[in-house]
Amino acid sequence: MILNSMSQETELIKDRLDIAEVVGEYVQLKRAGRYFKGLCPFHNEKTPSFIVSPDKGIWHCFGACSEGGDIFSFVEKIEGVDFPGALKLLADRAGVTLSTGRQGSKESSDKRQRLFDLLDVTARFYHEVLMNQAAVRKAGDYLQQRGVKKKTRELFQLGYAPAGWDTLQTFLRARGYAPREMLAAGVAGESQGGKLYDRFRGRIIFPITDLQGRVVAFGGRIVPWHETGKEGKYINSPETELYEKRRVVYNLQRAKQHLKHEAPCLVVEGYLDVVMVVQSGVENVVASSGTAFTAEQVGQLKRFTNELHFAFDADAAGFKAAISATQTAMTAGLRVSTVILPAGTDPADIAKRSPAELKRCLAQHRSLVSVLLERLREQGGKKKEEYLRELLPLMARAANVVYQGELVQEVAAALAVPESRIISQLQQAPMDSSIETNIEQGGELSVSPEQYLLGLMIVSVAARQELFSELDDSFILDDAVRMLYKILQGLFKAETAFINWPGEKLLERLPKEQISYAETLRALVEERLERSHRTPAEEGRVLLEGLKRRQLTAQLKCLQGELAAGGAQQRTRALKQFRELAERLAQMEVR
Ligand SMILES: [Zn+2]
Repeated sequence: MILNSMSQETELIKDRLDIAEVVGEYVQLKRAGRYFKGLCPFHNEKTPSFIVSPDKGIWHCFGACSEGGDIFSFVEKIEGVDFPGALKLLADRAGVTLSTGRQGSKESSDKRQRLFDLLDVTARFYHEVLMNQAAVRKAGDYLQQRGVKKKTRELFQLGYAPAGWDTLQTFLRARGYAPREMLAAGVAGESQGGKLYDRFRGRIIFPITDLQGRVVAFGGRIVPWHETGKEGKYINSPETELYEKRRVVYNLQRAKQHLKHEAPCLVVEGYLDVVMVVQSGVENVVASSGTAFTAEQVGQLKRFTNELHFAFDADAAGFKAAISATQTAMTAGLRVSTVILPAGTDPADIAKRSPAELKRCLAQHRSLVSVLLERLREQGGKKKEEYLRELLPLMARAANVVYQGELVQEVAAALAVPESRIISQLQQAPMDSSIETNIEQGGELSVSPEQYLLGLMIVSVAARQELFSELDDSFILDDAVRMLYKILQGLFKAETAFINWPGEKLLERLPKEQISYAETLRALVEERLERSHRTPAEEGRVLLEGLKRRQLTAQLKCLQGELAAGGAQQRTRALKQFRELAERLAQMEVR
């Protein structure tokens, strides 16, 4: 189907897709009446303040970000793409054919497309050099020696970057690419004197792709005959418009096709590990690319799997990395296991030696808790309590309560201590006690009185007529609520009919950026009103009194300070005010 305008296209996509389903792939959502709630994926929180309203097609965070929008803005934010990118992703999903060329800001999407093209051409160039140029036979020999077969080199589009300072540049210039584009794509660097140079020289090249299979960056390993010891053994593309390091997971684009939610995903440290593991016939393997394993990378993996198996290098650094990666993954609610490799080896070594041996190792994964316990025992001479103290912080990270329970059982059995003792100690671990992070146990979403009151002002004409003129921005402490209030106040001043507008009309008149916030407030209030025995105006009255009381109490506290600290004159004045305020407050309590 080809549609005539972009607004028709976006409308059709919104019609076809369920926002709760799309968001639900990134965020664990729980139904609460007409809306869904969950932990906001854009800030760190322990109680849910992220709301999705399927009937309105919007989302909003009531927590630290106080951001919101529609299905497109959500995908833009979570995938780190621009509007055309989100449009494309969602159009594919909805089965809507986009008319080309008019998507969003054409100039910026053209610019991005040129960068993608440049990176694609570069990957092909490096690959061609590796596969076909007799002059660099050595690079092919080197991969041969590391055990990487020809077919595998093709599968991963491995390449070789020649050692010259401008080989790639010359090639790209001839293809019509400008130096600023090479810099923007991260394949060239610029010296202090402003001279351009090829970033990758004398290196085996691993193209890194996004989830749609487009090359966004490169990793490069120095070849032994160009190694001087001064350069990094591995280098990566810098962060660019297309490459956000902390989000990209190497090989996830291929692995995701083999990951069903029940299947665990193997996480290794290096590009070569991934390549060799796949060559051994294990497809569900990824590596964090160019960084330590980040929460964002876990978020990407969580979309496709519930369980990670870490197979890090069997050395001290690898073990440390595994502990930190385990914590990150457990905090995100994933199950985690550790694969123990023979000391001093990495997955690529074993895969080269014997694919069968690799598979045997991978099958023998264990919980990191049990591995840690074993290490502690090897050190010897410790009491049970000391073991427990070392293990508790790790166990406390498990955001998945069922999984945490299993870990408790495991440790209880290994140390022969009662489970109840471990549980009570876990509950006392204040910082890391993540039981409350589990959404199943999360309490009611807390809507503040001022949020609720503003929502009422939108939903209910009666409440608005009775109370709006009594509102005052001094009652409002929350910035987002205050902003919305100021806009309503502006409407009120401009048109007296405002007070009688139905909610729908009022929403139409709000600025675009306020709509998702106001809509979500409305959804929450409507739902709460259904459960309330009061009329909307009565609800509003109760809330307003509460806010006034809060304000008076704060003023009283302030005056108490003045009374204690001020001079005689100041004290007399403060005392007078204090009596007045206290009287007003007392009257309110009586009513
Ligand atoms: Zn948030």
